[in-house]
Amino acid sequence: MLQLKNICKSYTTGDFTQVALNDVSISFRDNEFVAILGPSGSGKTTLLNVMGGLDHYDSGDMIVDGISTHRYKDRDWDTFRNNRIGFVFQSYNLIPHQTAKEALASVGLSEHLNKKPSQLSGGQMQRVAIARALINDPEIVLADEPTGALDSHTSVQIMDLLTQIAKDRLV
Ligand code: ADP
Ligand code: MG
Repeated sequence: MLQLKNICKSYTTGDFTQVALNDVSISFRDNEFVAILGPSGSGKTTLLNVMGGLDHYDSGDMIVDGISTHRYKDRDWDTFRNNRIGFVFQSYNLIPHQTAKEALASVGLSEHLNKKPSQLSGGQMQRVAIARALINDPEIVLADEPTGALDSHTSVQIMDLLTQIAKDRLV
């Protein structure tokens, strides 16, 4: 479904250019749990942002369902992001004044429907973020250090949840 071919991306700040992705090629299956490991600054976030259409590659190609994204217009990227991708971030990215409502039963949080993020633990907030990422049933869930802010016990629970989710999508 998703294939990266010789993807390169650099960031230029002033007269300094940082190569973030250097000729990355990888193919993903439709239902798969994939972990991308590397030290801080090695390009993991850049890769996820490119895969999720949040950021653009400089060269190479990303193939979606066998079709090159070379000719994608902004509108096509919007459609790709909105219809196929769910994002989970390290820092939860929840909206402070909104309660957590539907989709929460699926992540074991049905007793917390009316709570605000400040009334939830880190693990619970990340479950809400995962539920949010699943709301339009995306084919691909991209999680950027989803356990980075959690203790090791809670991290294991969140990884178990993501593993379950990967049974019928690419995580
Ligand atoms: P990771 O997520 O693995 O820590 P990143 O993808 O965030 O790595 O960063 C890869 C490299 O690109 C780093 O050297 C980082 O400093 C640089 N970088 C990331 N985003 C930007 C940006 N917006 N502007 C300039 N440099 C950036
Ligand atoms: Mg990162």
